[in-house]
Amino acid sequence: MLDEGIFYAKVSPSALINPRWVDINESLLKEINLPLDAEDPQMLDAFSGGPVLDGWRPIAQVYSGHQFGQWAGQLGDGRGLYLAECCGFEWHLKGAGKTPFSRFGDGRSVLRSAIREYLGSEYMHALGISTTRALSLVASDTPVQRETLERGATLMRLAKSHLRIGHLEHFYHQNSHQALGELIEFAIRQLDSDLEGVPGRLEEVFARYIDRSAKLVAQWMAVGFVHGVMNTDNTALSGETLDYGPYGFLMAYRDDYVINHTDHTGRYAYGQQPRVMHWNLGCLAETLTPFVPVETLRSLLNSFPEKYRHHYRLEMAGRLAIDPQHEDLPDFVDDLKTFWAGNHMFYPELFASMLDDSFVGLSRPAEDQGAIKAHRERWSTMAEASLIETARERAPAWMLSHWLLDEVIESAESGDYSPVQLLRTAIHRGVGQHCQIASELGGSPPDQNSAYHLSCSS
Ligand code: AMP
Ligand code: MG
Repeated sequence: MLDEGIFYAKVSPSALINPRWVDINESLLKEINLPLDAEDPQMLDAFSGGPVLDGWRPIAQVYSGHQFGQWAGQLGDGRGLYLAECCGFEWHLKGAGKTPFSRFGDGRSVLRSAIREYLGSEYMHALGISTTRALSLVASDTPVQRETLERGATLMRLAKSHLRIGHLEHFYHQNSHQALGELIEFAIRQLDSDLEGVPGRLEEVFARYIDRSAKLVAQWMAVGFVHGVMNTDNTALSGETLDYGPYGFLMAYRDDYVINHTDHTGRYAYGQQPRVMHWNLGCLAETLTPFVPVETLRSLLNSFPEKYRHHYRLEMAGRLAIDPQHEDLPDFVDDLKTFWAGNHMFYPELFASMLDDSFVGLSRPAEDQGAIKAHRERWSTMAEASLIETARERAPAWMLSHWLLDEVIESAESGDYSPVQLLRTAIHRGVGQHCQIASELGGSPPDQNSAYHLSCSS
C-alpha cells in the first residue's frame, strides 16, 4: 500500500450532465465474467463521474515525464481517476473531472477522443497486441471547449497497471529515493510478483521492462501502428499500449509518417518508434541509478536493439505464417515493405493480401496485380500450413482508418451511436472477417497522398 499525499490524492469524480451509454463492451464483460446492468441508473451515474460504487476508492496519481524529449516536470492523472482493482485489472475512469494534477486542463475527455480510444484499444487487442482495454463509453451534454465546443464523455479503461516510466521519473527527479524505492517494490508486486524479495530483482525487472517494451514496439511496427505521442508519461511499465491520443495506422509503408500535427520534428514518426522506446527506457534506467550500478544498467539498456530485432522477426513471421528461423524471412519482409511503400497498397492490408488470395481490400493495386501475385508465390513457398489459420485470424480484413473513425465520430456527435456499437461487435467477431459497417463508412479512402494529422487536444 502506498501513502496518500506522496503517491496520490483522494479525489471525488465530478458528474457529467445528462449522461447516456454510447456502448458497453459486452465481450470484455464476458471475458472478465462480470454482469453489468445497463438499466440501473446507479451504474450509469458511476460510469460517468457520479457517485461511485461500493468498493471504489477514486484517487489521482502523481507522475512526471519527458514530453517530446524535454523534461516536463510534474504531470499526473489530470483527467482520469483510478477507481479500483477488479477482475485482474486496474479500473480507471477517463474524463471524470479535475484533480490536483489537472494543471490548466478541465479534467474532461471529449466524445471524439473517447471513441478513438474505445475502438482503437479494442482493435489493437483483436490484432493480438498488448494494450489497455475499454469497458464502456458514456456521452453527455457537458460542454467542453477544445478547438471548437464539444461534449464531455467518459471512458472506463482497464489495464494490468497504469504505472508509467513517468511515475518513477517523478520521484527520481525529486531526489526522493525512499519513495522511489517503495514505488519500484510496488511495481514488482503488481506486475512481476515472482521477483518479490529476490536478490538482484531490480536488474531483473529492468531487463523485463526492456523485453516487454521491445516486444510491444515490434508489434506496433509489424501492423503499422503509430502511437503519435510516445512521451515517457505515456509509456507503461507493463508493456501495454497506453494513452490513445493522436494514433493511427500507416497507409502506404513510410518510415517518416507523422500523425501528430504538434510533432514538428517528426520525433514520433512511425519509423522512429523503436529508437524512441529505447530512449524512454534510458530515462527509466536513470531512475534506477540509486539502486543498480550504472554499468549494469547500461549493458541491459544496450540489449534493446537486439531484443527489438528478435521480437520484430517473431512478429512478422507469426503474421505471415512463416517459421521465424526461415533464412529468407528478412529479405522477404524487406521486399514486401519496399513494395508496400508504393502508393498502391495500404500497409495493414499486407497480411490479408498474402494469406488469402481472394482478399479484396481498400487498396486499388490495379497495375500491380502481377507484382502481388509474384509476392504471393514466393510467400507460398515459405509459409507453414499449420501456422496459416492463426495468422489469418489476426490479419485485419478491414482497417480502423482515420476516415472510418471520422465517420463514426460524426454519427455519434449527432446522436447515432450504432456505428460505434457495430464496429465494436465486429472487432470482437474477429478482425479477419469482413465488416459491413467498415465497408459502408470507411470504403472511400481519401487520396493516399493527402496529409492527415491529428492533434493531442483530446
Ligand atoms: P496526454 O497528452 O493526454 O498524455 O496528457 C498529458 C498530461 O496532461 C497528463 O498529465 C494528463 O492527465 C494531462 N491532461 C491532458 N488533458 C487534460 C485535461 N483536459 N484536463 C486535465 N489534464 C489533462
Ligand atoms: Mg498521457
